[in-house]
Amino acid sequence: MAINWTEAQIEEVIAAVIKNLNGGAPASNKGWDSTQYNGRRLIGVYADMNDAIDAATAGYKAVRAMSLEEREKVIAAIRELCRKEAPIMANLGVSETKMGRVAHKTAKHVLVADKTPGTADIVAQVKTGDYGLTLTEMAPFGVVGSITPSTNPSETVICNSIGMIAAGNGVVFNPHPNAIATSNYAVDLVNRASAMAGGPTVLVASVVKPTLDTAQIMYKHPNIRMLVCTGGPGVVRSVLSSGKKAIGAGAGNPPVIVDDTADIKKAGKDIIDGCSFDNNLPCIAEKEVFAFKNIADELISSMLANGAYKINIEQANKLAKIVLVESKNPKTGIVKKVVSRDCVGRDAAVLLEKIGVHVGPEIRCIICETNFEHPFVQEELMMPILPIVRVNDIDEAIDLAVKAEHGNRHTAHMHSKNIDNLTRFARAVETTIFVKNAPSYAGIGFGGEGHTTFTIAGPTGEGLTSARSFTRYRRCVMSDNFRII
Ligand code: NAD
Repeated sequence: MAINWTEAQIEEVIAAVIKNLNGGAPASNKGWDSTQYNGRRLIGVYADMNDAIDAATAGYKAVRAMSLEEREKVIAAIRELCRKEAPIMANLGVSETKMGRVAHKTAKHVLVADKTPGTADIVAQVKTGDYGLTLTEMAPFGVVGSITPSTNPSETVICNSIGMIAAGNGVVFNPHPNAIATSNYAVDLVNRASAMAGGPTVLVASVVKPTLDTAQIMYKHPNIRMLVCTGGPGVVRSVLSSGKKAIGAGAGNPPVIVDDTADIKKAGKDIIDGCSFDNNLPCIAEKEVFAFKNIADELISSMLANGAYKINIEQANKLAKIVLVESKNPKTGIVKKVVSRDCVGRDAAVLLEKIGVHVGPEIRCIICETNFEHPFVQEELMMPILPIVRVNDIDEAIDLAVKAEHGNRHTAHMHSKNIDNLTRFARAVETTIFVKNAPSYAGIGFGGEGHTTFTIAGPTGEGLTSARSFTRYRRCVMSDNFRII
């Protein structure tokens, strides 16, 4: 995928983003203004969720009144602006959340612009027979309430907007509080594109300060006909218990198996490329490796030649105590290990620094050999830390990889030329995405065939969502006529 931004342009954008910061780089996203960017007021951002829903409802009515051609014109303008302002959003995302990498986030926005399906995804079905013709059309739901994550904030807002608008819906966002300035920038971008293409000035809406309370208003508001949630297990559970039609795109912990028929050199490079992409923030990214013991050394050598740094088990245990912290549930009092938000999506060099190891920026991933029980294998870290577990054979590899995936049925990867092994693992793990012999991001259309999405709905079964996922089927029956054969 070509990204036509020069170094100078990127520098210019970084300067603009830093200027937008509230006195430099704040420790958290506190102090970020989610209502303006460089003095320009963001369009479609409301103090009150009820007002945001009203605006999205007006946006929905405007979309309903548009022809498909007009709708597609608005979507084309969103794609164009998204491509053009990809580095702005990438910089904003990294600056605000302190997570990920600018170049990779830029590439993710270009991917969204290029490969998110538009109105062509909405296809009517027809059945004709002795009794005439029955037409089934994919109709909009109405106003969709969308909850978006901090890991791909603006990517998800734009990807959801394209798909939901293509399907004829309106949309109101309750974005992640830690990425609110970046998410609302994307809301504004969609609205600017709409106005440029002759659509309504406010097509999609959001709030200044999203909270669990604003999410509850969204869940209960009569105008919200569908909820779409992209995030961790807690929030997915909450939308699924809302009583409304809901799409849940939840957590993963993608395992990788490498057997002894694979192109080991390529497997090592592909795994590091995928695992380190945007510092492992994508939910599809490689999180733990099960390598046949007869090729494990060669695989590790290839990883080391491609930007990995290997730590020993003592160092891994020390790092685990830093990146996983204890958290007490205020209701139940149960104490659980959770990922430290100060470590999620950070550069490998920053994480290594925490255990006294100094490396240069060429190191993009930390690898270590562990046993299956190690927290690096069991927890979804979303950091460029990759544990490798040696296995004896395919039976052990599949058994452990399926267990490490924890039944999320999200994503799994395999490097092999043995079609029996590939088929056995794919059948056993039952994931929404299964990538063979490529980096994980091939699964969302980046260097792989197929459309892209940043909302992968495993729990509710829509899979890689697109415009058609945000529709309801309506049937129209013509009795006795319109069959022309
Ligand atoms: P998160 O779970 O911390 O937050 C997601 C959103 O939910 C935020 O807007 C948050 O404020 C909100 N939220 C949290 N609890 C809520 C509740 N009870 N009611 C209403 N809103 C609530 O997610 P994150 O840390 O930004 O993202 C990382 C997680 O999301 C990982 O587990 C990752 O795998 C998953 N994810 C999945 C996909 C997918 O397509 N399946 C995509 C991106 C991220």
